Amino acid sequence: MKAFVDKEACIGCELCTTDYPEIFSMEDDGLAVAIEAELSEDQVSDAQEAVDSCPTEAISVK
Ligand code: SF4
Repeated sequence: MKAFVDKEACIGCELCTTDYPEIFSMEDDGLAVAIEAELSEDQVSDAQEAVDSCPTEAISVK
């Protein structure tokens, strides 16, 4: 599974990048991006938490 950030929905609040820096990082445009690699089992769990906590539902895991 992989994590994705919908740039159209992200408001750059930095919640995901603060809580799960191994999965999400901020880009120069001030919006978050997810790593492109396949997520480990633990990372899938963390990414699901990020899905639930993102205020704009910009994150997906599939
Ligand atoms: S939590 Fe959501 S809105 Fe905030 S930076 Fe991450 S993807 Fe963007």
